[in-house]
Amino acid sequence: MSAIHHDTEAVHLSETQLVPATEVTAAPTALQTAASASIAPNERIDLLDFTREALEQYFIEQGDKAFRARQIFRWIYKQGVTDIAEMTDLSRAMREHLLEFATISSLEVVRVMDSIDGTKKILFRLKDGAQVEAVLIPIGRRITLCISSQVGCALGCRFCYTATMGPGRNLTIAEYMGQFLGSARLLPEGKTITNVVFMGMGEPLINFQNLIGTLSILTDELGPKLGARRLTVSTAGLCPQILKLGETFPVRLALSLHATTDAQRDQIMPINQRYNLKALFDTLRTFQKLPTQQSLPVTLEYTLIQDINDSPEDAKRLIKLSRSVRSKINLIPYNEHPGAPYKRPSQEAIAEFLRILQVSGVLATERQTRGDDILAACGQLALDGEAKKIRRPLPPR
Ligand code: SF4
Repeated sequence: MSAIHHDTEAVHLSETQLVPATEVTAAPTALQTAASASIAPNERIDLLDFTREALEQYFIEQGDKAFRARQIFRWIYKQGVTDIAEMTDLSRAMREHLLEFATISSLEVVRVMDSIDGTKKILFRLKDGAQVEAVLIPIGRRITLCISSQVGCALGCRFCYTATMGPGRNLTIAEYMGQFLGSARLLPEGKTITNVVFMGMGEPLINFQNLIGTLSILTDELGPKLGARRLTVSTAGLCPQILKLGETFPVRLALSLHATTDAQRDQIMPINQRYNLKALFDTLRTFQKLPTQQSLPVTLEYTLIQDINDSPEDAKRLIKLSRSVRSKINLIPYNEHPGAPYKRPSQEAIAEFLRILQVSGVLATERQTRGDDILAACGQLALDGEAKKIRRPLPPR
């Protein structure tokens, strides 16, 4: 018998919560940013909301030259300038004009928590007062930023701390880039973010349009210029959006799998009732045939939870699933958090599970837990303090 309480409220996700209709029917291009669709008359535009192509288009529509966008991109993303007045290769008249109709936002850093392993958890306050977290993880020469996509999350995974906040809203492109730029400013001189993983708060594929705009800026040669292969998008398993992502951008995909049977996954990840394991792995096989994916493996994220999914039978089913696609397994011993309904398996149980995987020949590693002393490890992102009042209790086991 499963030790998980079945929360009927959590599994009744509406169409809108799962997949906004506009995002299913139309795959946006990098040109179609949220900003270009939503500028109200008399409202100052936020330059961080624009891909370069969208900004070029914007200047052309204003009767100006497209190269203004390239100049502005260089100032923001290469020089780190946050004040339009400092963009000295623009004429004084142009700067004055820009100051009237445009702004460059920055997110307020509410708090930075430093882990003994060098990981930093950063709490940002957004313009509407909502808060999100990002995590900077230095490992050797690589500095990875884990970035949030939504305030809270509607998908209600039972093991996830963010889920306790309930559904929230999508972040804008400017809010994605605000996390990137605000986190980069905390790095020592000469250090830069080398990798970005969309594994923070929320489901990135629900925020599809702004995700694509953000990927476009991050990879822009006049922007942060990160290789697409250094960007990883994690999903709980929204099948139509996985294919749209593969058709749109050559990024890496990580799938939050966490279970090896539908019965198990239904209980800990309500999204499975919409897209079950068969649908998910059929989708992955189609996804991996797309030209953007070529030989890329998908990472199967597997949070190991005591007495839930940590048996030798689970390990054997996981091997079978892993062999059905090009994949590698990332084993994540459950990170307990305040009020957590589950337990982390013993070190012996974790080692035995990993041993079964590795003996079989599938590619499997145990994720090195980073920042767990500051609740920055996987599945632990949620707001403390002020946001406690909006957190809903998890049901009893
Ligand atoms: S694991 Fe991801 S998709 Fe699931 S509730 Fe948490 S943030 Fe949402």
